[in-house]
Amino acid sequence: MSRPKVLVTRLLPEKPLDVLREQCAVDLYDKHDPMPRELLIDKVGKVDAVICLLTDGMDRGVIEKAYSVRAICDVSVGYNNVDIAAARERSIWVTNTPDVLTDATANLTWALILGITRRVAEGDRLIRRGGWTGFRFDFLLGSDLAGKRLGIIGMGRIGQAVARRALAFGMEIVYLPSSRKRRRGVSRFDDGLRATPLPFDELMRTSDIVALHCPLTPETHHLIDDRALSLMKETAYLINVARGPVVDEVALAKALRARRIAGAGLDVFENEPTVLADLLDLDNVVLLPHIGSATVETRTAMAQLAVDNCLAILNGKRPLTPVPELTDLPVYS
Ligand code: NAP
Repeated sequence: MSRPKVLVTRLLPEKPLDVLREQCAVDLYDKHDPMPRELLIDKVGKVDAVICLLTDGMDRGVIEKAYSVRAICDVSVGYNNVDIAAARERSIWVTNTPDVLTDATANLTWALILGITRRVAEGDRLIRRGGWTGFRFDFLLGSDLAGKRLGIIGMGRIGQAVARRALAFGMEIVYLPSSRKRRRGVSRFDDGLRATPLPFDELMRTSDIVALHCPLTPETHHLIDDRALSLMKETAYLINVARGPVVDEVALAKALRARRIAGAGLDVFENEPTVLADLLDLDNVVLLPHIGSATVETRTAMAQLAVDNCLAILNGKRPLTPVPELTDLPVYS
């Protein structure tokens, strides 16, 4: 019997790839850059499954060429790069990699929170350009966290992990319930977080730090726009470790330059890898190149989970972590 063919769109850690190669013929695009779209379209027509990254646009145009594909296994938890409706029409399973990256991403969120409130990157830059003239009592003063309010938008796995860490810093936690949860009347977490649900405007007005951990959807696109930023305190910080387009970057740069908010910590951007030029010369923003889940252990676990999902589907079993919209798809026999 011929082995199933799997397209892997990017160089992944060796161990998960070896596991995949034991059962499948692997067509690996062994580069660190995204596969060109024309090549992706050409290759998806010849395989049974695709293991891809968030930078691969698995849109309708690509999925319609995926004649024999049974599985699209994203190596990320956010799957806004995949057209889920188009996948459903062709009964293609789509899987993501939840949980295994929660701690790494929550830790990186805290690196940004501490980095911006204690001016870590600013101090580093100052020393490197020879600008440190000696200890001064009123120099590079930041903000404390104890007693302050952390407002979380996207109180899912990562949002809650960020909130758990906030308790150790003595912060009060508030969050925006998703519209689904608002509809279902779920209003409170009972896992010891003591988190209070708040409507959007009140959360924006009263939080000292607003942390974004929602998925990118039509509802969350530019959720943080000029109006939302204008609600924030002048002393407040915005942290985005979700997806770039959740924030209107032009509006954010304006608010930061005018000191209408105190600062921001960004791991994601609207047009990656391009970062809006207006952000680059601002000292009150910490910029990271989308490294939320970037640890050796986590990236290996993500790749392994994507491979496990792919093999499950190709072997006629349910995947371990299908995206919630497609859990009802039939198992291939
Ligand atoms: P998750 O467990 O699904 O959490 C997302 C939460 O956001 C859910 O509780 C969801 O509520 C809520 N939500 C959805 N729409 C909302 C809205 N309009 N307003 C308020 N809340 C809303 O996902 P996760 O594992 O925590 O990951 C969250 C996101 O982080 C991913 O989608 C991804 O884009 C991003 N991420 C980024 C990095 C990075 O490297 N920077 C790494 C990992 C993840 P419902 O469940 O009720 O819909």
